[in-house]
Amino acid sequence: MSARRQRKQDSSVTTWWCERAWLPHGLTQGVRIVVGEDGRIDEVTPGVQPGDGETRLRGVVLPGFANVHSHAFHRALRGRTHDSGGTFWMWRERMYALAARMDPESYCDLATAVYAEMALAGVTCVGEFHYLHHGPGGARYGDPNAMGEALREAARRAGIRLTLLDTCYLSAGIGVPLEGVQRRFDDGDAEGWANRVSALADDAFFRVAAGIHSVRAVPADQFADIVDATTEADGARRPLQMHLSEQRSENAACLAAYGVTPTRLLADHGVLHSSVSAVHATHLTPEDVALIGGSHTSTCICPTTERDVADGIGPSRDLTDAGSSLTLGTDQNAVVDLFEEARGLEMHERLATGDRGRFAVSELVDAMTVYGHAALGWPEAGRVEVGAFADLVSVRTDSVRTAGVLPEQVVMAASAADIDTLLVAGRPVVQDGRHLLIEHPGHMLVEAVDQAWG
Ligand SMILES: [Zn+2]
Repeated sequence: MSARRQRKQDSSVTTWWCERAWLPHGLTQGVRIVVGEDGRIDEVTPGVQPGDGETRLRGVVLPGFANVHSHAFHRALRGRTHDSGGTFWMWRERMYALAARMDPESYCDLATAVYAEMALAGVTCVGEFHYLHHGPGGARYGDPNAMGEALREAARRAGIRLTLLDTCYLSAGIGVPLEGVQRRFDDGDAEGWANRVSALADDAFFRVAAGIHSVRAVPADQFADIVDATTEADGARRPLQMHLSEQRSENAACLAAYGVTPTRLLADHGVLHSSVSAVHATHLTPEDVALIGGSHTSTCICPTTERDVADGIGPSRDLTDAGSSLTLGTDQNAVVDLFEEARGLEMHERLATGDRGRFAVSELVDAMTVYGHAALGWPEAGRVEVGAFADLVSVRTDSVRTAGVLPEQVVMAASAADIDTLLVAGRPVVQDGRHLLIEHPGHMLVEAVDQAWG
C-alpha cells in the first residue's frame, strides 16, 4: 500500500488542493498540500489536478499573515477620536479613559472579538504588545498575569496563534513617574516585571515574549535585566519589541537626557539583535538606520496607524537595504487589513520619494508572512513548505475588488473582505469568509465595544 493510500485512510490527515499557492519560489498552479496530524505540512506537490477527497482552496493561497504589533483594546477607539479637531492628545485622552475601564473579563471579551476580526482578515498569528498588567491603582490581581492570560484565552477562542509581548512600562516620561491609569502598567522595576513574566508558560498556540514600551517608559539602566530575561539557557533570545522614534519629541527627550538618539541608546546597552523588532522607527538618523540594519534588528511598520496619528513616514527602504527585515502591524486596530498595511508600505514610499516600485510584491508578501512570523518567535510558520505549520489563507480572485487582477499581484488589490478560508495548524477557522468558531463577530464587537465604554 502506498504512503498516499495509507494517508487517505487516516482521518487525522487532511489534503487540500490549491488553484494557486504562493510557494517559496513563487506563485504556482495546481498545488496539493497534505497536512499531518501534528498540524504541519507533510507534502507539497505542484502541478497536479484536484483528486478525490481533496478540499479545494479557491483563488490564491498564501501563508497565513502575521500581525506583528497589536494593541487589541485600542480597537474600541475606532471612529471615536476624530471630533474636536481629532488631535493626538484627543486620541490619547480617550485611550487612557478606555484603559482605566478594562478588567480581565472585558479585556478577554474585547480581544476575542478583535482577534476574530483578525482571523477574518487572514491573520493566523498576532503579536500583542501588552502593558495593561494590573488592576486600578496598580493593585495586583490574584493571578498577577490575569490580564495576559485573558489575551491567551481570547486568541484560543478566536482560533489564532498569539505571541504575548509582555511589556515593561515603568515611567510616564524620562524621569517622570507613572500616575493615574498608568499605574496599572507598573511592575516597579525590570526585575519585578521579569519575575511576573516568568510565571507565564508557552503552549502549542501561545508564546511568551517581551516588550520595552519605549526609551521614555523604561530607564536605560533597566535594559540589561530585560535582555537577560529574554535570553534562554542556550543563548537564544525570545522576541523583544519596543516603540522606537515614533515621534520627534521622543528623540528630543532622549537626546536631552542621555545625549544620544533612542537607537544609539539601545545599541549601547546591547538591546539591538536579530530577535528584536523596532516598531515604527519613523524619525531616524543615517547612523540609526545603520545600527538597526547592521544588527539585523527587524522593523515593524504600521502604516495605517502611522498616518492616522500623524507620525510621519519612516525610511523603510533604507532600513531594508541596511539589513533589517520589515514586518507589519495593525497597532491601534483602527484598520484590520494586512493588505492595506502592505500596500501602505509601498504607497508611503512612493509619496515620500516620487518613485514607484520601491518594494517588489514578493517583498510585501515576505513582510506579511515569513518575516512577521520569525519576528514573533514562530520560525516554523510563514511558508508553504514541508515541515512548516499548515497556517494558510486563501484569497478570492473573483470579488469585485480582485476580479481581473493578475494572481501574482493580488496583494495590490485585495482587501480583508476577500479572505475566503483560513487554516491554523490545518484546521479551518474561516471558511467562505465566515468565522467557524464565532457566529457573529460583528455583533460580538458591538457588544464588546459597548461594554468597554460602559
Ligand atoms: Zn504600538
